Amino acid sequence: MGEIADAGLTRTSYHFRVTSFPLQSVPVHPEKGPSSDERRAAALADPGFGRHFSDHVARARWTSDGGWDDTRIGRLADLAMHPASAVMHYGQSIFEGLKAYRHSDDSIWVFRPDRNAARFARSAERLALPVLPEELFVDSVVQLVAADAAWVPTPSGPDGEQSLYLRPVMYASEAFLGVRPAKEITYLAMASPADAYFADGVHGVRLWVCRDWVRAAPGGTGAAKCGGNYAASLVAQEQARARGCDQVLWLDAQQRHIEESGTMNLCLVTDDGELLTPASETILDGVTRDSLLTLAGEHGLTPVMRPVELAELTARILDGGITEAFACGTAAVITPVTALLDGDRDLVVADGRPGPATLALREHLLDLQFGRRPDPYGWLRQVG
Ligand SMILES: *Cc1c(COP(=O)(O)O)cnc(C)c1O
Repeated sequence: MGEIADAGLTRTSYHFRVTSFPLQSVPVHPEKGPSSDERRAAALADPGFGRHFSDHVARARWTSDGGWDDTRIGRLADLAMHPASAVMHYGQSIFEGLKAYRHSDDSIWVFRPDRNAARFARSAERLALPVLPEELFVDSVVQLVAADAAWVPTPSGPDGEQSLYLRPVMYASEAFLGVRPAKEITYLAMASPADAYFADGVHGVRLWVCRDWVRAAPGGTGAAKCGGNYAASLVAQEQARARGCDQVLWLDAQQRHIEESGTMNLCLVTDDGELLTPASETILDGVTRDSLLTLAGEHGLTPVMRPVELAELTARILDGGITEAFACGTAAVITPVTALLDGDRDLVVADGRPGPATLALREHLLDLQFGRRPDPYGWLRQVG
């Protein structure tokens, strides 16, 4: 396994050839189907989300005997899996989500990959998976983006928010039916061009307060980014849709405190100038949320993280103490929350429209990610 060599480089600058993830030689036989250029042009013309994939994957293998090895960038291809691969039976898998952005000078940047690397390590520990060293995680996504730079969209249109979504995943690939942590693990990182989340202007969503199921209980896997959490949440998501809502608002196991929105963290703006977000052991520690809490002061807001009871939320929506609400995560950045449905009670937040702090924070973070304003926090890592 190589090192991130060349001591002269800063940690924010990577060179394509100096890497622990070398580009594997590209096959010489002609590809079947449309050429990469044609596929890419069609995908970038209408990326949507998670429907199209770039040409390469970063991959690495871990074995209990040899540790991490075989780190490389290869062509994207279907996987051959043994039917007994442990992940398919016991769900030992974790993932991450982050984005690469093209700036107006054509340089390409990844947002806070070190935070995702650290969270990936925490998720791995919870799922009894090996920890991928932070440098390897960051190098894998940076080298993947370097290999597939042509797949990073050029922001266009009024929203100008297109990006390349990066999806690292780690799973138990050992063929073994016994119940214990697998001794062979596969790491992959793939890339998928992503459109602006709101094609026709930022609009609010309605959340359904879920009392029928629990996403995460104390001591469970709620703070880990693992596939199982999502599997357990899909039925509630369908119920929310059936009730005319867009997303679920999860409560804690005692149904007393608010938690998060399944793929996004929740933030509230209060009439006394707080940016308030629930503290809990059982929610995902979002990079977007952390970034917004950091930016809060520049918007005259005090960041506060503490447990928030549903009863408090309800009362303060009714008496006007909650002036804005939004959900935040890498995919959607910020989604205004304009209403809640709790049983048959419909609660509209303020005037039912996206609030000014919500929209200002959204623009601030996007401007920073797309290089339209300076990055005083050193959150962006340049590719190439
Ligand atoms: C990924 C995720 C989030 C958002 O995290 P970001 O790092 O901001 O993308 C929130 N909640 C859950 C359950 C998630 O899986």
